[in-house]
Amino acid sequence: MGRFDGRVAVITGAARGIGFATAQRFCAEGAKVAVIDLDESAAADAAARLDGEAIGIGCDVSDAAAVEAAFERIVAELGGVHVLVNNAGVTRDNLLFKMSEDDWDLVMGVHLKGAFLMSKAAQQHFVAQKYGKIVNLSSVSAYGNRGQANYAAAKMGIQGFTRTLAIELGPYGVNVNAVAPGFIATEMTDATARRLGMDVDEFRELNAQANPVRRVGLPEDIATAVAFLSSDEASYVTGQTLLVDGGAKLVS
Ligand code: NAP
Repeated sequence: MGRFDGRVAVITGAARGIGFATAQRFCAEGAKVAVIDLDESAAADAAARLDGEAIGIGCDVSDAAAVEAAFERIVAELGGVHVLVNNAGVTRDNLLFKMSEDDWDLVMGVHLKGAFLMSKAAQQHFVAQKYGKIVNLSSVSAYGNRGQANYAAAKMGIQGFTRTLAIELGPYGVNVNAVAPGFIATEMTDATARRLGMDVDEFRELNAQANPVRRVGLPEDIATAVAFLSSDEASYVTGQTLLVDGGAKLVS
């Protein structure tokens, strides 16, 4: 008996990294899972690697028509939707004076417009059935991080978005929360190491030493928190942003 038996979980950016680990967690706890990612074959491949019922859908979360089509498929193929995890993300880091308008727009588009479109599509099902869970991925970078004006603004925007949806949707049985990860070992942080001209392992070790628990986070650390916030055990928790960062923010 799993916490998500009979539930359908939609997870964006789930072809790899935190999204994939979250999809694995939901499957392991009984959910049917829709893996959403930019590339249809990567999404289908990830879905095939999950140990449970799952489908992969190619969808740019910042494209309204693609999001609408994705939800039609999810409902037709999996029978409904109960949990939405807005996890898809990109970084386009640069100091403000070198940041292009395209890099600003892309980061806003994927994180903020993507979460908006996906949540808007999900809420019509959630409100009708008086049940739903939304978990949005913020970041400790929301509190400010050199070279990430676009990403920090989007991730703090996610926190305001989360609090507002919690107020609007709470009366309809919908909980909305966010998780703000610290450093998690994924392709995203490996790409940052390469951009800084650092060895990936050295970069991870540097970040491990920067928090009280002296290790980097793993995608599974975030999946665990997302699953808790999506579960009925957390039905009295809403509008919150949970930092999962090994305590890094306490000491920085
Ligand atoms: P990741 O390994 O880069 O995975 C992100 C996934 O999102 C990729 O598969 C990517 O596809 C997909 N994606 C990008 N744009 C998309 C779009 N428009 N529509 C649908 N899918 C899209 O990233 P991660 O490290 O797992 O991060 C997951 C989330 O956690 C992100 O929101 C990130 O900002 C947040 N986060 C991560 C960390 C960390 O340390 N890793 C820390 C704080 C917050 P492509 O590969 O095709 O681009």
